[in-house]
Amino acid sequence: MLLQWLLHSLRSILQRLVSNVKKLEEVLQDWEAVIGLEVHAELTTLETKMFCGCKLEFGADPNTHTCPVCLGLPGALPVPNRAAIESIVLAGLATNCDIEQHSMFYRKNYMYPDMSKNFQITQGPVAFCMRGHLDLEVDGAAAKERVDLKEAQENGSYVAHIGIERIHMEEDAGKMVHVGGGEGRIAGATHSLIDYNRCGTPLIELVTEPELRTPEEARLFMQKLRQIYLAIGISDCSMEEGSLRCDGNVSLRRRGETKLGTKTELKNMNSFKNLHDGLAYEICRQAEVLEEGGIIYQETRHWDPSKKRTIVMRVKETADDYRLFPEPDMAPFDISREFVEEVRQRLPELPDQKAKRFEEDYGLSAYDARHLVEHRTTARFFEECMRLQGAGEVAKPLANMIINDVAAYLNTNPEITDLAQTALTPPRALELVTLIAQDKISSKQGKEVFAAILEEDKDPAAIVADRGMEQVSDTGAIEAVVDGVLAAFPDKVEQYKGGKTGLLGFFVGQCMKEMKGQGNPKVINELLTQKLDS
Ligand SMILES: [Zn+2]
Repeated sequence: MLLQWLLHSLRSILQRLVSNVKKLEEVLQDWEAVIGLEVHAELTTLETKMFCGCKLEFGADPNTHTCPVCLGLPGALPVPNRAAIESIVLAGLATNCDIEQHSMFYRKNYMYPDMSKNFQITQGPVAFCMRGHLDLEVDGAAAKERVDLKEAQENGSYVAHIGIERIHMEEDAGKMVHVGGGEGRIAGATHSLIDYNRCGTPLIELVTEPELRTPEEARLFMQKLRQIYLAIGISDCSMEEGSLRCDGNVSLRRRGETKLGTKTELKNMNSFKNLHDGLAYEICRQAEVLEEGGIIYQETRHWDPSKKRTIVMRVKETADDYRLFPEPDMAPFDISREFVEEVRQRLPELPDQKAKRFEEDYGLSAYDARHLVEHRTTARFFEECMRLQGAGEVAKPLANMIINDVAAYLNTNPEITDLAQTALTPPRALELVTLIAQDKISSKQGKEVFAAILEEDKDPAAIVADRGMEQVSDTGAIEAVVDGVLAAFPDKVEQYKGGKTGLLGFFVGQCMKEMKGQGNPKVINELLTQKLDS
């Protein structure tokens, strides 16, 4: 009896261990993940708050930017910020939304010290922007997560059409600091401090339709949205500092089923990596619970990136808990067609349009064009290079260098926000790719020169001369070396002619050694095969 019980316990422990290591790809074979995102962006580029004239300033002394309106003192009346309404309309137009002609503000009632008037002004069923969408081009490793799409598995790429339910306007709450507890948490704290500077900061919240199916799609959606918001200049979009925040709703259903499962809401995904990893963890967690016959509760969970798991924060409130009702202190809005058209005139070139133009003007592939516009810095740098004479001929290798070497450099040096801060100037970049295109140096040497430009602040030609790197492409000189090598290894030449053609690499290596690595490998190869096959 005891033995049986022990065996049973051991088996369930083992099963748990095995199921814990079940990977996302495996889970997605049986389960479909249904993901929706809620993205908050603070309109940091505005001068003043949403409903009062207080200055918007990050990092100011606590409670120095407040007034009766944002403190919620009795009798103070809100006045909407016209520039904030322009910003949200701009965001709506850039994400293919319809701009509603009639909408209004609502009160969302809750009692918490960070919002001293005991309600937050937000929007009701009709927001300023409704029914938008973004198309995501998914490729590479990101496409692999769509195990259900034949196209994704066979071509390694697909387009995901993601609906946007709405973008509404609301105000941010103040900031609370808990003192005396561990890690600034409220548990164990002796007292709490409140800074009302953030109170009334204009926020826009974008809600997607639950049409995302993988963590990669969610990550790409956030990246694209961030590029768009940066391009239209409405926010500095810092995920670290919280001016761009993202919550995710996740539920699972068996493949082939249409009924939605119970969803959980995930918080604290303050980087693209955390967004992906948090969602991936939550999908695997839910699958494990469901496969063991358990139930998913509708709750809010917190992603802990250090422990790599999600933990319950609270059971989710419903809309009824907030007693949402129309804000009596502000008249409903009528947005005229003229106003929308006026804002539309201010739309800059958006990332998708820029990529399309790069494809058409410079003959780049869709992939190259898209990756160039991922960072505003790299797109601008590419265009600056393109304005230089002769750059059109090397557009493709130049794009490659920017996507690979420059992007890698920017990723490892996040403090650099503009390449103008570095020694890599457009003329130097152009000179470097031209040297490679003309076979003066190999592409491998090009990487060395690239690093040297940034370290030594010198022109590529000077670096090549200093290091004696110039590649020898002179056929006459190379032919002499090739003849010498073939004469030195008559037995190997015999073996090659007898069918061991793999020896070609050996001959190339000997020639390169003879030329101290400076022979043009293409010319060496051509001459060797010509002579050996004759
Ligand atoms: Zn104020």
